[in-house]
Amino acid sequence: MNPPHDLETLQLETLAVRAGTHRSQFNEHSEGLYLTSSFVFDNAAQAAARFSGAEPGNVYARFTNPTVSALQERLAALEGAESCIATASGMSAIMAMVMALLQSGDHIVCSRGVFGATQQLLGTIMPRFGIRTTFVRTTDLNAYRAAIEPATKLIFIETPSNPLTEVADIAALADIAHAAGALLAVDNCFCSPALQLPLQMGADIVVHSATKYLDGQGRVLGGAVLGSKAIGEEMLKFLRTAGPSLSPFNAWVILKGLETLRIRMQAQSAAALELATWLETRPWVERVYYPGLASHPQHALAMRQQSAGGAIVSFEVKGGREEAWRLVDATRVLSITANLGDTKSTITHPSTTTHGRISDEARAEAGIRENLLRVAVGLEAQQDLRADLERWTY
Ligand SMILES: *Cc1c(COP(=O)(O)O)cnc(C)c1O
Repeated sequence: MNPPHDLETLQLETLAVRAGTHRSQFNEHSEGLYLTSSFVFDNAAQAAARFSGAEPGNVYARFTNPTVSALQERLAALEGAESCIATASGMSAIMAMVMALLQSGDHIVCSRGVFGATQQLLGTIMPRFGIRTTFVRTTDLNAYRAAIEPATKLIFIETPSNPLTEVADIAALADIAHAAGALLAVDNCFCSPALQLPLQMGADIVVHSATKYLDGQGRVLGGAVLGSKAIGEEMLKFLRTAGPSLSPFNAWVILKGLETLRIRMQAQSAAALELATWLETRPWVERVYYPGLASHPQHALAMRQQSAGGAIVSFEVKGGREEAWRLVDATRVLSITANLGDTKSTITHPSTTTHGRISDEARAEAGIRENLLRVAVGLEAQQDLRADLERWTY
């Protein structure tokens, strides 16, 4: 049967392939996929005990499912969290976190560079339910302090940010949040636990879009909220009632994706650093944004809190939208798509896609110019990526 692992003593690489392993009667080596929505009880008394919680065990897949539980255990081990609740997508993780932990009248301070749907959720949907958000500059600690109100219950950040790779100071923001009696939540999507462990730096909650690097191969949607045991209990109470639960099939895909997370993140980060360094030498490039470059404004902070720069490189071409689009349209290897976190490299023109719906002023304030391009570096050969990005100049 399953050897119970002493998780405390194991390294991240080991946990990524070993944590959350529970063999069934068949003693399978790869984790089982339990495609079942409900579970059968031995008798009426057991049904009652399972429903009341007096006896632990599965009841219905909106609450728990063994494959989802295996993913939750593995991801909790990787992030160093007491609890993990998996959700149907990254956005449902953020929605569930806010709805489970906050209430009408509460206030959030959020870094300005967060994912577009997160901005929409916090900026336009949550206010309808009485939860307000103030957005502040990602890197400006005084702006967070100034935005805090008596009603502030949560500081929410994403670091590095998308697409400009701005880095927020997790430890400093944890102190600012705690001094105000608020929680700090970090969207750890861009780094994943392979490169950054926000809970170890004082954050209270980590949220994930598992759709990105955790799956890592662009196959399924998923999300997760990680934190203390108490936060996990609140999350589960919300999830089992409100229902944004993860499909066991998707959980299984992500569970297997985690097994290669570290090696992918290391390879993709190394490739991104190489590409960013090369881009800085190109005559047609105006500016490169990558936390692993010495030229990045928060390079020192990034190297303190991340073990590598991550796989997202943004850069401005000389010229405007026309030149940026010419570069995109000349590519043959890179996928023209807004997604990221895949083994296939992708290229995006943020000002007309991911950030196309925000006002011109908001975009200008966020520093997203028309000549900006974002590359999410995958696993192709460096020389093929370089040739692809330079094809428009021939
Ligand atoms: C994609 C993404 C999300 C949303 O995740 P979905 O799985 O698409 O719902 C949230 N945060 C970040 C940083 C993302 O990149």
